[in-house]
Amino acid sequence: MHAIVYHGPGRKAWEEVPKPMLQADTDAIVKVDTVTICGTDLHILKGDVAAVTDGRILGHEAVGTVEQVGSGVKNVKVGDHVLVSCITACGACRYCRDGSYGQCIGGGGWILGHKIDGTQAEYVRVPFADTSTYAVPAGVTDEEVLMLADIGPTGYEVGVLNGRVRPGDVVAVVGAGPVGLSAIMGAKLFSPAHVVAIDLADARLEAAKQFGADITVNPSREDAVDIVRGLTDGLGADVAIEAVGVAATFEQCATLVRPGGTVANVGVHGGPATLHLEDLWIKNVTITTGLVDTYSTPTLLRLLATHQVDLARFVTHRFALGDFMQAYDTFADAAQTRALKVVLTA
Ligand SMILES: [Zn+2]
Ligand SMILES: [Zn+2]
Repeated sequence: MHAIVYHGPGRKAWEEVPKPMLQADTDAIVKVDTVTICGTDLHILKGDVAAVTDGRILGHEAVGTVEQVGSGVKNVKVGDHVLVSCITACGACRYCRDGSYGQCIGGGGWILGHKIDGTQAEYVRVPFADTSTYAVPAGVTDEEVLMLADIGPTGYEVGVLNGRVRPGDVVAVVGAGPVGLSAIMGAKLFSPAHVVAIDLADARLEAAKQFGADITVNPSREDAVDIVRGLTDGLGADVAIEAVGVAATFEQCATLVRPGGTVANVGVHGGPATLHLEDLWIKNVTITTGLVDTYSTPTLLRLLATHQVDLARFVTHRFALGDFMQAYDTFADAAQTRALKVVLTA
């Protein structure tokens, strides 16, 4: 079969590799029908994720058809159409028993396209298939469901739910890439008073409006803190969601939040940021961090199936599986191509 194989920083190829085989009786082999590329894959290709080694097949998001299951798999059957989640869950360890699948210590967590071969391939081996896949509901498209492999639950759990967004809140979202847009969409489910999207790219601010932000701020022209304080009697945002992953945007969130509010960090950081405790200690501010657990995936699938959320609008570009290298170029050059999510179909 063919797959996107990582060969060290800056090097990848769509090349012939052996088809995966069952390794444990809880595994499934899934034929990949639709697959996408994550910002995290670009981080890996920059060499930011040391655990990914030469020869690894990338990718942690897919919708596919189950081709083979191990003898220990009970709920998933050959021919089932399933969402392959970015998080694998053993289902039995301390963290999985707590719903914290992202922290699984029983062999799961974020392993696909990281510690084991991933989904950017014609076939993928999915460990713990019973607890790591979700049935695709009737009446929705593969590409809509694919948005729930990672970005949907990440924006919702790590941004909106960790941030404790409540009705009437003023929510500031710093970074309007796919995960920031997912956080905006998720925040809207709680009827906030305002959602303020902050990004340096005007194209992304336009997208943020389509996803439900009522106020957009480009910090190259406007002062986000002034605008948010103007909406909140000078106090600041109830919730500030960081969806970029650099020091400046984290520090901006700590400035945007009101006393008693929450900073929810979603961004993947590759370096340190300054925590201004000399300002924050007196403000009763809560700061949360997290890797997605995907405990909200069943909820989001129900919201999708009943058309309470529109996930199709994330998809800006479509490719055939064989054009994977071109899809990477399009996704990596989002400033020019205005790509949000690119979808490849077998
Ligand atoms: Zn991802
Ligand atoms: Zn576990």
